[in-house]
Amino acid sequence: TQELLQNSEKLTLVGQLAAGIAHEIRNPLTALKGFLQLMQKNEQHKQEYYSIMSSELTRIEMIVSELLVLAKPQTRYFQLRDVAPLIRQVVTLLDTEAIMKKVQIVTKFEQSLPMIRCDENQLKQAFINFLKNGIESMPNGGEMIIEVRKSADEVEICFIDQGCGIPAEMISRLGEPFFTTKESGTGLGMMVSNKIIQNHQGTIQFISKYGEGTTVIVALPACYQPEEPDQELRN
Ligand code: ADP
Ligand code: MG
Repeated sequence: TQELLQNSEKLTLVGQLAAGIAHEIRNPLTALKGFLQLMQKNEQHKQEYYSIMSSELTRIEMIVSELLVLAKPQTRYFQLRDVAPLIRQVVTLLDTEAIMKKVQIVTKFEQSLPMIRCDENQLKQAFINFLKNGIESMPNGGEMIIEVRKSADEVEICFIDQGCGIPAEMISRLGEPFFTTKESGTGLGMMVSNKIIQNHQGTIQFISKYGEGTTVIVALPACYQPEEPDQELRN
């Protein structure tokens, strides 16, 4: 019965996700079709139509590329890594966006941090999602702190923003497919990040005060045996 129950729950989730994807992709597709027809009839506004169509296509592209993370093959390579350089690379990737939004990214690394085992690209994707949400929560700019510290047998990565915050009743909806409060959000970032951190046997905690800011704490198992060879994990 337990197994059956789990299977039927899985089906519901897959069904939910499929319905969500279909809906989210159908909207921009409908728009694209409409503008194609308009262009056929009306030569004058071609330029305008092109730019709307292009942004609709970008939207489909964004949704598909976020979903691809979930569809990655089952075999993942976990390697020993220092968290600090991973964070530095992620910060470099989002530097321009932060500057444009008047957000200053500050990193704080505790001394002699233990290493972690990770799929580097997946983990970076999750960090990018947390950092991006932090930046996007501060429309008038501010400070975005990324603090990395050790605690017991874990490495904690804290993303601390001074943004709009998340109302208490919304916290449980984070990670729900397509849940977004942004005009051009996909509502997929947290779902994908949940999955990635779960793959790493880690946990995510959201602490937020509406109107004051949000702290996201990602805890990952520390790895104290650097002599162990890289491992290939299957599940
Ligand atoms: P998206 O960013 O495309 O909206 P996400 O899954 O990344 O999708 O986030 C879902 C929602 O969670 C966001 O729309 C926002 O309302 C809320 N959220 C997530 N992180 C933060 C944050 N740091 N500050 C404020 N709101 C946040
Ligand atoms: Mg996001």
